[in-house]
Amino acid sequence: MSKKDLSSLLLNWYNKNGRTLPWRIKGGAHPNPYIILVSEFMLQQTTVKTVIPYFMRFIERFPNIQTLAQANEEEVYAYWQGLGYYTRAKSLHQTAQIIMNDFGGIFPQKKADVLKLKGIGEYTAASFLSLAFNLPEPVIDGNVIRIICRMYGLLEPVEKIIPEIRKKALELQSLKHAADYASAIMDLGALICTPKKPQCLLCPWKNFCISQGKENIEQIPNKTKISKKEKFGSVYVIRNKKQEIFIRKRIEKGLLSGLYEFPWSEENLFPLHLCQDTNKEISHIFTHIKLTLHLFTIHSDIKPTNGIFVQPEELEKYPFSTLMKKVWQTYLKNKKHNL
Ligand code: SF4
Repeated sequence: MSKKDLSSLLLNWYNKNGRTLPWRIKGGAHPNPYIILVSEFMLQQTTVKTVIPYFMRFIERFPNIQTLAQANEEEVYAYWQGLGYYTRAKSLHQTAQIIMNDFGGIFPQKKADVLKLKGIGEYTAASFLSLAFNLPEPVIDGNVIRIICRMYGLLEPVEKIIPEIRKKALELQSLKHAADYASAIMDLGALICTPKKPQCLLCPWKNFCISQGKENIEQIPNKTKISKKEKFGSVYVIRNKKQEIFIRKRIEKGLLSGLYEFPWSEENLFPLHLCQDTNKEISHIFTHIKLTLHLFTIHSDIKPTNGIFVQPEELEKYPFSTLMKKVWQTYLKNKKHNL
């Protein structure tokens, strides 16, 4: 069967079985590139199910690129709160400003221009151009890699065969229906050709797939597991005589930048005689790091630099990461040190 026929089979399957999603329109490019831009940022490293309610709230508050570009950074973070990976929120906000200031509010359609925006790599650029402008850019993510490796029985470690995967993905791609094809292959990976227990009998490509029915199917693609690095540190909930809590804004670089936090570090930040040990630990898993923080409380008027004391009920006005929310919940549950 020709590659063109394979892509037609997939498109027919998608027309009948593709998911209905708030950022998706079947039958061509989405008429509003802003919708695609926001959804692409939100979907980086986050599942569709998690993204939907955040996407709906975000679009209601920031309905277009102008509103987002003019918004204050903390409000953008507040609407992102809970989605994690906050650098994405910052990059999306900056991207909106670049599109307004450097492109006169017109979404770029050249890949080289899209790659100049913030937080957009090869994958997001290709996905954005396919979905927003129906341009046939090969969208290659974990789903596509899995499907291609299984279809063609590619058993070598993925990192060694990326050019081959890319070539095959390009050959399969529909030139005329790029937007639908990009959505279709994503849905095939999410619904049918899943990492565990793929539903080959329902797959439009089952008669042409080398791995169909093979025992080793779940081991394809051949991926080296990246082990998560473990890090440990201490976090401090500091309360003053007015019962206010100390928070600070994280410096503008790296993990959790721009968000508020209780002071924490991999080193001890305060002399031990000032700290009460709660014997509680809070762990959180980031992309490649597992961070475990030991919780201490301090009841004193010491004021570390670069932060403010706020009343506990005011904490919700500030954007905190999921990790810091866990710290606060743990603090509240710890009756001995409760407010
Ligand atoms: S037949 Fe099975 S393994 Fe092959 S592409 Fe379809 S779902 Fe994946």
